[in-house]
Amino acid sequence: MHTFEFTRPQDPAAAVALAAKSKTAQQGADIRFIAGGTTLLDLMKLNVETPDRLVDINRLPLDKIESTRDGGLSIGATVRNSDLAHHARVQKDYPVLSQAILAGASTQLRNMATTAGNLLQRTRCMYFRDSAMACNKREPGTGCPAIAGSNRGLAILGASEHCIATNPSDMCVAMAALEATIHVQGPTGSRAIPFGEFHLLPGDTPQRETVLEPGDLVTHLTLPPPIAGSKQVYLKLRDRASYEFALASAAVVMTIAGGNVTRARIALGGVGTKPWRSSEAEAALVGQPASQATFRKTAEAALRDARPQSENKFKVELAKRCLAHALQMATA
Ligand SMILES: Cc1cc2nc3c(=O)[nH]c(=O)nc-3n(C[C@H](O)[C@H](O)[C@H](O)COP(=O)(O)OP(=O)(O)OC[C@H]3O[C@@H](n4cnc5c(N)ncnc54)[C@H](O)[C@@H]3O)c2cc1C
Ligand code: SF4
Repeated sequence: MHTFEFTRPQDPAAAVALAAKSKTAQQGADIRFIAGGTTLLDLMKLNVETPDRLVDINRLPLDKIESTRDGGLSIGATVRNSDLAHHARVQKDYPVLSQAILAGASTQLRNMATTAGNLLQRTRCMYFRDSAMACNKREPGTGCPAIAGSNRGLAILGASEHCIATNPSDMCVAMAALEATIHVQGPTGSRAIPFGEFHLLPGDTPQRETVLEPGDLVTHLTLPPPIAGSKQVYLKLRDRASYEFALASAAVVMTIAGGNVTRARIALGGVGTKPWRSSEAEAALVGQPASQATFRKTAEAALRDARPQSENKFKVELAKRCLAHALQMATA
């Protein structure tokens, strides 16, 4: 049985100093932060993650949701998903975020899961989770059995010949459409990372999923001030109505004036190797009449570069219908 040390620092600087000794912050890290544990402990039981030390961040002062000076919102890294989804300002000003979180996992999981943990959750690819199988993400260079194997739930956007795993997060799809910023405290100081630059495409290094380096602690996320009059919708399509990951999902933040779309931020889930902001869809939508014909064209634009695998061709049409329907719902 794998054994590990457990440390519970009282301040972020001590947590960063401990984790900075890790050889990597990516797959196979020997030192890991632990928050709710709902992803990490799961993977440790499967021997997919085998850290020598866990740094428990639950006692750090990172559990606040506060308004920012510019009218936006700051969300601490250890804010529980349930608390975030039910927060009055999130429900009023960022309803797409509340809807996305409540569409994920189960009540019990959301009560434990944290904002940063959700941001950093791992793929559900069955080969990744089975240490008896080859997997380029788990062990670089061993191959990707999903490409010729079971790939129904995997990605159709952003995949490479080395990995086709889907990013499974619902929360992240809304965060992408809301243009969140991720704040990190590391061994050499603090930095802010635009949401779209945080997750990496697999390319030929699928074991690298984010820009995080050893010691980097996500302290909080910020949301820009809410867009007055924006319509917001998160729509998730899945095999069953609850406790299931998305086959396709869409987050829409859109404003309409005089019957035309004046601003749009669109992200897709369940189809990309990272939370998938679609600049193609946004360009196809802005300036156009808010009509069913426009929404279908927008969906076609969003999926133009889709490259399905043997078992998931259905996802291309499903994702188009999901986005077109989410846009329609936003106009209701
Ligand atoms: C059965 C099941 C069903 C699920 N269904 C869904 C679903 O439908 N939709 C969905 O979106 N999610 C789903 N999830 C995933 C769930 O949302 C995540 O497990 C959860 O959000 C992870 O949060 P956590 O706090 O428990 O993370 P942890 O397990 O504690 O940590 C996860 C990772 O994040 C790192 N980490 C945590 N905090 C920090 C920090 N502050 N700085 C740097 N690194 C950090 C850890 O080191 C670890 O690598 C499901 C999970 C399970 C087990
Ligand atoms: S899709 Fe990615 S995670 Fe899944 S087996 Fe291939 S390399 Fe591993």
